[in-house]
Amino acid sequence: MKIAIVGGGIGGLTAALALSQNAHDITVLERSAGIREIGAGVQISPNAGRLLHSLGLGAAYSEISVNPHRVVLRRWEDDSIIRATDLDESFLSQHQVPLANVARNELVEILGSAVAARTNVTMKFSTHVVKVEPGDSSSEVIFADGSSQSFGIVIGADGIHSVVRPCVGGIDKPRFSGSAAYRALVPRSAVEDLPIDVTNRMGPDRHVVSYFIGRNRSHLNLVCISPEDSWETESWTEQGTMEDLLSRFEGWSPEFLSLLGRVEEPIFRWALYDREPLEQWGIGTTTLLGDACHPMLPFMAQGSCQAIEDAVVLARCLSDANTSDAASALRRYEDARQGRTAQVQTSSLMNRDLFHMLDGQEQKDRDMILSISPPGMSILDWVYEYDALTVAV
Ligand SMILES: Cc1cc2nc3c(=O)[nH]c(=O)nc-3n(C[C@H](O)[C@H](O)[C@H](O)COP(=O)(O)OP(=O)(O)OC[C@H]3O[C@@H](n4cnc5c(N)ncnc54)[C@H](O)[C@@H]3O)c2cc1C
Repeated sequence: MKIAIVGGGIGGLTAALALSQNAHDITVLERSAGIREIGAGVQISPNAGRLLHSLGLGAAYSEISVNPHRVVLRRWEDDSIIRATDLDESFLSQHQVPLANVARNELVEILGSAVAARTNVTMKFSTHVVKVEPGDSSSEVIFADGSSQSFGIVIGADGIHSVVRPCVGGIDKPRFSGSAAYRALVPRSAVEDLPIDVTNRMGPDRHVVSYFIGRNRSHLNLVCISPEDSWETESWTEQGTMEDLLSRFEGWSPEFLSLLGRVEEPIFRWALYDREPLEQWGIGTTTLLGDACHPMLPFMAQGSCQAIEDAVVLARCLSDANTSDAASALRRYEDARQGRTAQVQTSSLMNRDLFHMLDGQEQKDRDMILSISPPGMSILDWVYEYDALTVAV
């Protein structure tokens, strides 16, 4: 099959790699001038990590991964531990691969190199798609220069502001969450004393997640979420200032403020958007994947992981598809993925309320329940145990 993937981010590149295992002719259409990824870190949980291994990325992926020893929830005001979960041997034997924290650019780099090594994938950069016209036996891609090209299948993996999405009926606008994320990095040399944890500091209306990323654990990645009244653009690259960041976390623990004091500028900030789960992902021979169909708040750390799962399920559905049954193969993919991704989208939204509780009885109850609940990460088993390689399609 002649397949076009619009967008070469984590979702689009993983789809290209997964689809290239079969005799398809794949073209990735990417707006940027080259493979690039802005933003700092991303957590890859075992449900997606296992898939990266299955796609043959094991060694390169392990090399760029930092595997945290614990997941720790702390109180904003005094840094006291509410709950600490060891990611020990039993976690590994249950999930086969560890939780991994990676630098986004390094993940995209290894995906890009693997894709470049496939003879049945062509990467086209500086290629701006403006529209797709879905048909039953082929779909037409329209480019910004007015030209067009026909493909047997078109996959919209073009992110939260997808141009493919409205072409299959998704005309809703992204929903501003009322929160902004400040992203800051601290060089490893300034935090050698810190344990290799994923830490979530929870406070009123805000929370901060930190973890090490990069080859040789080069940096501590801080994602500081705080309220924002309104936002005009959704951008990965807008710069924030240290003064602004500090003013949003006044009164937080000395340990946390000391961490902010070690941040290496620039600081980036971006608005957080999501959308309601989408009912119809595709028409005819066009479908969607990743943030283009199910953008979610990052409070389950699952956006990229869900895009990776999509890619693998899609490749399974299309493994022996031909022109006559391509559309029905895409509908099987959508049926297999819709419930799962909607559940993760909804849970991500619910985590905002859980993380951002104002101090008071409800927050005390939350902390007490978290502190006495059974050890381990079993509350996330439904996320981590999903197997895109075997789920019914
Ligand atoms: C603060 C924050 C923290 C996060 N943390 C995590 C985490 O820990 N774990 C996790 O799994 N996820 C996390 N996510 C979510 C994750 O970043 C996204 O879900 C993921 O990047 C989506 O990948 P994608 O390939 O679907 O879309 P994108 O990464 O948005 O890629 C889309 C690609 O399409 C290209 N494109 C766009 N429009 C066009 C066009 N018209 N023509 C051609 N090309 C086009 C773009 O240039 C881009 O390369 C986080 C998100 C945020 C904001």
